[in-house]
Amino acid sequence: MEIEHKYMNELNFKQELTAAFGQPISENPTQVMIEAAYRHHNLDWRYLTIEVGPNDLEAAVQGAKVMGFQGFNCTIPHKVNVIQYLDGLGESASLMGAVNCVVRRDGKWIGENTDGKGFVSSLNEITDPKNKKVVIFGAGGAARAISVEVALAGANHITIVNRSAKRGEELTTLLQDKLPCYADFSGWDSTYSIPTETDIVINATSIGLFPDIDARLDFDLNTLSANMVVADVIPNPPATNLVRDARAKGCKVIDGLAMLVSQGVIGVKHWTGVDPDPSVMRAALEEVFG
Ligand code: NDP
Repeated sequence: MEIEHKYMNELNFKQELTAAFGQPISENPTQVMIEAAYRHHNLDWRYLTIEVGPNDLEAAVQGAKVMGFQGFNCTIPHKVNVIQYLDGLGESASLMGAVNCVVRRDGKWIGENTDGKGFVSSLNEITDPKNKKVVIFGAGGAARAISVEVALAGANHITIVNRSAKRGEELTTLLQDKLPCYADFSGWDSTYSIPTETDIVINATSIGLFPDIDARLDFDLNTLSANMVVADVIPNPPATNLVRDARAKGCKVIDGLAMLVSQGVIGVKHWTGVDPDPSVMRAALEEVFG
């Protein structure tokens, strides 16, 4: 009886909780790679995919706090609005004005942005962005995160190419005013020609995302050369037309799964302190995407 009692005391059914809050959220595959990492590293942690509409964000954050969550990701439409419910921001989240990863640190809820950091971490495996000339298609949340982080990593010239001039110019002004790089804006109302001196070309638009998988960026493929590094943020499908065209040209290529995995690695490290194995996380995603 005494032994049984002792054994009971050693059991712990309480798992540590993390999550993604967003709407829509059901097609977001993050849970698959994060829970693969938890299992691989013997962490008794869970990552839940939770639908939270814009009017329920405050209650959801409060719920996460009282239920003792260790942190959570937030995605569309919460990346900006979540800031008002947090205790502080990391450097890049503060520059971008957007948070995708909330971390509980010493009882305080701190907003980080891992999208751009994840991107730069994948980029570093192929090339150091320091002193490079970068062309970025897009000026939305992903472009903002990537451009700020690429500038912090030392890129010296960033060209933003975007359909909406207002959004493109706003991002260009942010880069010019707050970061140590030269930034300019190019409107995108006709086929874009990539300048010959470009080192890195990044698609940070949603062009190519499932179900519009045949969509192509409107640029002159003849201006893409083999010495350029090409990156695409689209995780589904990972082999977009841009990824395939760039590989056919002989460019070094980073696909959207690489960025997704790299930002997940940073999130897991923030929450658990464990540096997870990215290959386990990528393999879990590849299984999902066939
Ligand atoms: P936003 O809605 O904030 O921005 C979308 C961008 O795409 C805008 O610049 C928009 O231009 C542009 N765009 C969309 N459709 C077209 C079109 N037909 N022609 C020209 N430009 C177009 O989205 P996010 O920045 O948050 O996300 C963009 C993509 O990045 C998504 O597909 C998302 O899945 C992916 N992503 C991937 C991550 C990863 O880890 N791999 C992480 C985060 C995002 P305009 O301003 O003119 O409307």
